[in-house]
Amino acid sequence: MPRYIFVAGGVMSGIGKGVAIASIGRILQSKGFKVTATKIDPYVNVDAGTMNPIEHGEVFVTDDGTECDQDIGNYERFLDLNLDTNNYITTGRVYLSVINRERNLEYKGKCVEVVPDIPNEVISRIKKAVKISNADFVLVEIGGTVGEYQSVLFLEAARMMKIEDPKSVLFILVSYLPVPEMIGEMKTKPTQYAVRSLNMAGIQPDIIIARSIIPLDKQRKKKISTFCNVLEENVIAAPDVSSIYEIPLNFEKENLGNKILKKLDLKPRKSDLRKWKNLVKVIKSSRKNVKIGIIGKYFRTGKFTLTDSYISVIEAVKHAVWFYKRKPEIVWLSAEDYEKNPHQLEELKDYDGIIVPGGFGKRGIEGKIKAIEFCRKNKIPFFGLCLGMQLAVVEFARNVSKMKGAHTTEIMTNSKYPVIDFMADQKILLKEKKYGGTMRLGEYKCKIKPKTISFKAYKTSNISERHRHRYELNNKFRNALEKKGMVMAGINPKRNLVEIIELKDHPFFLGTQFHPEFKSRALEPHPLFREFIRASLK
Ligand code: GLN
Repeated sequence: MPRYIFVAGGVMSGIGKGVAIASIGRILQSKGFKVTATKIDPYVNVDAGTMNPIEHGEVFVTDDGTECDQDIGNYERFLDLNLDTNNYITTGRVYLSVINRERNLEYKGKCVEVVPDIPNEVISRIKKAVKISNADFVLVEIGGTVGEYQSVLFLEAARMMKIEDPKSVLFILVSYLPVPEMIGEMKTKPTQYAVRSLNMAGIQPDIIIARSIIPLDKQRKKKISTFCNVLEENVIAAPDVSSIYEIPLNFEKENLGNKILKKLDLKPRKSDLRKWKNLVKVIKSSRKNVKIGIIGKYFRTGKFTLTDSYISVIEAVKHAVWFYKRKPEIVWLSAEDYEKNPHQLEELKDYDGIIVPGGFGKRGIEGKIKAIEFCRKNKIPFFGLCLGMQLAVVEFARNVSKMKGAHTTEIMTNSKYPVIDFMADQKILLKEKKYGGTMRLGEYKCKIKPKTISFKAYKTSNISERHRHRYELNNKFRNALEKKGMVMAGINPKRNLVEIIELKDHPFFLGTQFHPEFKSRALEPHPLFREFIRASLK
């Protein structure tokens, strides 16, 4: 019988619900259980693909091409799973399918109502995720914060599942305990209110994970226990940590895994987190830096720098750096600065390697191209991801193949040398303004050429990677680029699309049309990131 663990958030967003779920999943896996995880996002968007990353963070892509929330990335990295569309629920997705069914007369003349038809659709989606994965446990993250109007129907679904089979459902509240500077004391009241909001939805949390800057003390545990109606042993301290990968170990120190099993009437089991412990040991003990610059544009918001837009890239770099027992130092470089002030490019010499990640639109493009040129000429290891690869082709075409004004048609529609151009099917979609979920998405095969950096990294010629793009290397210019030394190291055989470009006579100059960062795992760094870091170490 599968068990359902619902995790909701209290007090505020961004306190690490996703990582908490991923960590609990890891612990249950280490006890020999099969686990899957589902993310519920309460927004009306059908998927994350149409949202600006500054607004919502990275758009993560699964094998089946679902453009989803970045938490799915956390689940995959921690749990080493390949999730899919069944693991991602949004208000938009739920309503869309209910309305489509209604239009197809599938409700057989019945009046379709928000309650119970919407929660029922949510429940059937959660159950489908379990059925497909055959998991013992499904961890369901209810996005947002309890008390928010938009998560009500999802809480309702969880409540209905508990009534149907009380022994199979567990509720966890991840809450935040602030320590206001002027008071100097950890406050429990916001958590008490959060629990009260949950109670109003008919839900009593079984376990409270108490996030804070420091571990909560005995007194506060007792207070939460008394006022929130949760056993003291089930109030779990979750202080800030320097690395999120420590969290499963911290939870295990509080014996969270067995407490969950006990609540669900299951026998306690030993956990085996040896590999994970080794990873954390490396993370904490590595001293020698590897300094990687990421040239992007989705990180400045007002006075703050957010790195959520590139979370998979950051994590992939870290995984690879830890593989070599080094310490990652990641620095954000703004492409626009290089446009205003080309002399600033000199700073790139201070870096062991440079990444130009994916992106859309015009802002910062010329700065990125300048930076790529600088890396090429100064033999600085360069790794281009999707847009980064496309711009490496533009740079090479302009400066090596002497195609003056070469560009991608995403930016310049009338370039004489459109070296990056629409994929044919995309032209029609864009004309019809069909933007949502219509890029070339998800997993596609790629054949690797022997004797390339890529082959050395993958050690095989048949790979498949995840995509999210509308433009591609224009095959009309392939020969001209190759003549000047660009190596087309990976090709999609079915459509004859260039997937990887490389340059010889350079320590590491490589661009991928796909997004390798989506497949890097904590305990299994991605081969290309590993190879990039290896070159950066030299
Ligand atoms: N904007 C480019 C395209 O659509 C690159 C996309 C990306 O970097 N993910 O092809």
